[in-house]
Amino acid sequence: MLESVLIANRGEIACRIIRTAKRLGMRTIAVHSDADADALFVQMADEAHLIGPPAARESYLRIDRIIEVAKRTRAASIHPGYGFLSERAEFAQACAENGIVFVGPPASAIKAMGLKDAAKALVQQAHVPVVPGYHGSKQDPDFLRQKAYEVGYPVLIKAVAGGGGKGMRRVDKAADFDAALESAQREAQNAFGDPRVLVEKYILSPRHIEIQVFADSHGNVVHLFERDCSLQRRHQKVIEEAPAPGMTPEMRAIMGKAAVEAARAVGYVGAGTIEFIADGREGLRPDRFYFMEMNTRLQVEHPVTEAITGLDLVELQFRVASGETLPFTQDDLAIHGHAVEARLYAEDPERQFLPSTGKLWALEFPEGDGIRIDTGVEAGDDVSPYYDPMIAKVIAHGATRDEALDRLAGALGDTIVAGPKTNIAFLKKLCEAKEFRAGQFDTGFIDRNMDSLGAIQRETDAEAVRLGVLKLIEHEFEERNYKAAIYEGPVPSPWGEHDAFQLAGPRRQGFSLNIDGERADATLEWSRPVSGDSEIDVAVRFGDGVSHLLDDYLPLDPRRFVLTDDGVIVLSHGRQTRVSPHDPFDVDLEHADGGGTIKAPMHGKLIAVFVKPGDKVEKGQRLAVVEAMKMEHPLVAPSDGEVAEIAAEPGAQVAEGARLIVLKTDA
Ligand code: ADP
Ligand code: ADP
Ligand code: MG
Repeated sequence: MLESVLIANRGEIACRIIRTAKRLGMRTIAVHSDADADALFVQMADEAHLIGPPAARESYLRIDRIIEVAKRTRAASIHPGYGFLSERAEFAQACAENGIVFVGPPASAIKAMGLKDAAKALVQQAHVPVVPGYHGSKQDPDFLRQKAYEVGYPVLIKAVAGGGGKGMRRVDKAADFDAALESAQREAQNAFGDPRVLVEKYILSPRHIEIQVFADSHGNVVHLFERDCSLQRRHQKVIEEAPAPGMTPEMRAIMGKAAVEAARAVGYVGAGTIEFIADGREGLRPDRFYFMEMNTRLQVEHPVTEAITGLDLVELQFRVASGETLPFTQDDLAIHGHAVEARLYAEDPERQFLPSTGKLWALEFPEGDGIRIDTGVEAGDDVSPYYDPMIAKVIAHGATRDEALDRLAGALGDTIVAGPKTNIAFLKKLCEAKEFRAGQFDTGFIDRNMDSLGAIQRETDAEAVRLGVLKLIEHEFEERNYKAAIYEGPVPSPWGEHDAFQLAGPRRQGFSLNIDGERADATLEWSRPVSGDSEIDVAVRFGDGVSHLLDDYLPLDPRRFVLTDDGVIVLSHGRQTRVSPHDPFDVDLEHADGGGTIKAPMHGKLIAVFVKPGDKVEKGQRLAVVEAMKMEHPLVAPSDGEVAEIAAEPGAQVAEGARLIVLKTDA
């Protein structure tokens, strides 16, 4: 076996490669950017080396720096993972030139499959069916429009250098062709530095079915069956499974053979994937599938194949790279059960799936039969804006498709992520969608069902807000000495002893909130216990309802509430609601002249002042209470300081904006 491996990648795939490498007794070498200095994969590796700033083109895409580290650390091999440099022939070439084993195919195979037009021409010679269309070199618009007409609409314009679903346009009629061509070319130029496109028939009711192939350097090539990756959004995979629903043994054998032929045609070595598009209108038919492209690397979704074959694909990659013969023939391989993978992303389905970065305040995955989690982050990490915002892959294996999907849905339901918004609830709904369950789906399924999958903007979850406020109050009770808690601090309570500030019966207070960044007001009601001091109930009114500390909040699963630096994130019905106390003095302080002026937030009566000139106060300490419209509004110190002046008498009527207390602040 190879003595060591440098992993030219990051995140979950770097962790996954390190795990197998360690099991095989290899020394593991991580390279990382500044942004990943504390990342899980860096901690897991035997050694780690900084290769540059966060931007990928200055770190993970720097062939020269990575090769330099590999030479310095005497790495026997480099594993490129997926993405980044994994499909760059120059990288494989640079490894070869420096006597480092590239854990992947030869540079020549990467090059041959690198451009979609050349790849189609090549596999066609090997009698592999390709999508009908034009994949020649002519690029003039009149010619391409004529070709589109001959192919017949709808057509798909595709960047020859494409990847990640970029540079692709579906065109339904001739009148739209020129504009679509122009925008596809522009996007291709921007993304790949190559504006060239091909035109192919748009396959109706398309199913994305790909075949995993494996080849050794002794001429043996096998396939490890298929994966169905038809659940896509913007031509990007969301959920993948193996085997493909509706696949027959005959069709599998035919597709498998075609994939093996395609791999042979380029002298392939290692793990590769041949992607096919199948016309699914009448179920899967052997005469209706077509080669799309070959990915000359390990795929993101390789775990589903591992689950159904019992193989470790990364181990096989290492074995084949070190010159070993494949330890099995095609006839030795069989499918066991069914596996599904969901890509858990930090993105917001309620806002067009916008990436959602930031700190992971909580991250917990379930364990269970048939559940595998591949992740590269842990609680406390940041989801950084520099890279793909994938948090984890959740993989479920079962005896049947239903069992696998049930397990996946269950695992998603038991996963806790707080901080960045995620697609967890969306994924769970997908697993449960009736048509998908019945095997009736194609690549348009997600787009057609956005609303029922919950990918629409929804109103603030008022119940979550109320429960969040109660959590903040409970937290305040716990944090401080109980008696102090009830008259000080940013979370207000109207009872205290030293200010003679006591009333019987319920009392009401206003409470200003930040809800997911928006200002809002809630009302608190405090019920004085008849005896003892342990049973104070607080009720929060917000929206149309009211929630009680004792009856509604305390019985809940505490894992639904995740404290942050400034508030709480409430997890409910698959959504996150972020609630923090709003500090009305944040703004005032900025234009205060070296001090803090505490002003009346509204017309009302100053009913209590708890401090006197010369008192030292701490940020958050309760200084006074204004009553307006039968509600109490506590005023708190905006920062540490000393009371310079009390500008109004308790009992006085005060106007909105009136100066009440002036602080000399330390800042
Ligand atoms: P990329 O390199 O971006 O992965 P692919 O050629 O693999 O590009 O296509 C990505 C996705 O676009 C496919 O999975 C499929 O959903 C869709 N697609 C590609 N070609 C066709 C086609 N001819 N007809 C219908 N859909 C297609
Ligand atoms: P139900 O569907 O029964 O009302 P929820 O969906 O509110 O239940 O919560 C089910 C479980 O999922 C709870 O244990 C909760 O901790 C967790 N959960 C709820 N929402 C989220 C979320 N946004 N992120 C992570 N976990 C969540
Ligand atoms: Mg593809």
